Amino acid sequence: MPDSKYRQFVSDMIGGVGWRDLSDGPQNRTEERDVEITGIDCVVVEGNFPWNLIRVRTDAGVYGLGEAFPGPASEYVEFLEPGLVGQNPLDVDRLVEHMTQLVSGLGGSLGYSQAAVSGIETACWDIAGKVTGLPVYQLLGGKYRDEVQIYADCHAGENLAAAADAEPRDIYTPESYARAAEEVVDEGFDALKFDLDVKVEPADTATRRLSTDAIQHKVDIVEAVREAIGSEPTLGFDLHWNFSVETATKIARKVEPYELDWIEDPVPPENVDAHRKVTESTSTPILAGENITRFEGFEPFLTGQAIDLVAPDIQKCGGLLELRKIAALADAFDIPVAPHNISSPIGTMASVHACATVPGAFALEWHAREVEWWDDMHTGDDPVIHDGAVVVPEEPGLGIDLDYDVVAEHMAPGQEPLEPL
Ligand code: MG
Repeated sequence: MPDSKYRQFVSDMIGGVGWRDLSDGPQNRTEERDVEITGIDCVVVEGNFPWNLIRVRTDAGVYGLGEAFPGPASEYVEFLEPGLVGQNPLDVDRLVEHMTQLVSGLGGSLGYSQAAVSGIETACWDIAGKVTGLPVYQLLGGKYRDEVQIYADCHAGENLAAAADAEPRDIYTPESYARAAEEVVDEGFDALKFDLDVKVEPADTATRRLSTDAIQHKVDIVEAVREAIGSEPTLGFDLHWNFSVETATKIARKVEPYELDWIEDPVPPENVDAHRKVTESTSTPILAGENITRFEGFEPFLTGQAIDLVAPDIQKCGGLLELRKIAALADAFDIPVAPHNISSPIGTMASVHACATVPGAFALEWHAREVEWWDDMHTGDDPVIHDGAVVVPEEPGLGIDLDYDVVAEHMAPGQEPLEPL
């Protein structure tokens, strides 16, 4: 990036930290670890979400790739870059704490700022792997599995872009969900998820309540999907934080006969006690976590056993090592992990490395079935996902690289192209 408008701001902040100046790293640089960050690129690719690709450049002939959750990552990268240039990218944990301290001064250490931290952190792991000749999963502690199961997000059945003037009950039919489920299982996925928060009748949504009929429509969808695919595939439904505790509880209880693997985000994301009340009221497992960042954000949900399953987003929670910290606490409370993921192949592969290292990571989301060029974005010969799973790469770093022509083709307007290095 060009000389940052934040350079003086960051410089003043670092100067003002004083008591815990993490900008000052270890001085012992043997030849093997003599690496410096020379700059950071951020480019937005228009997939089914605006994917923030991060590239950390170094003076050692290697670069690292990462991805930040959709949002204003480039602004944060521009802010953070002056505090990172000249730093050793191999000291990943220190740099994460350094960045977190910097963004804390900017308005808070939790929330969206951690998405940029996550993308840079991931790129540092990619660099560390390339410098040491080891795959990222190995640097994170080694693996529990050779491949990571993927669950396919299937949106609202066959109806990605339903006509606005159509009758919702004619569009969001249980049959259309069931057909989509069969199609995805036929593609080789043993795990899938649908949106269950579709609105099928006029309602005062401010109340977060649903009528008995509207709830029954959701139960009918769940029943149709389970009957179509049988009891074996992993199956979840997402409520996207829409409902009150009492309506969420009614839905979760009424779908108990269909043995779902989870209901996701039944109530707004902030309130631990509201989650616990829903979780304790039903045998349907409750999953949440995609809105939460850093270990301290997850801590009350896990130690309070307010959820059955936890779903950190690795492009937002603080990165791969932060995921390991969150997952370690989840494991201590016997809470399995199914990370949220709406990213490009870069973020997905980073999440695969993290999932390989987590004992309780039973599935990773994939949200891009409709993006036909998803696999064209990387230089690998084979699709990242095969038969509903990703084989954990053994190459140094993340084991994935960008096809810069495809990135340029799908870049959001008004950006500098990402030049191959
Ligand atoms: Mg979700």
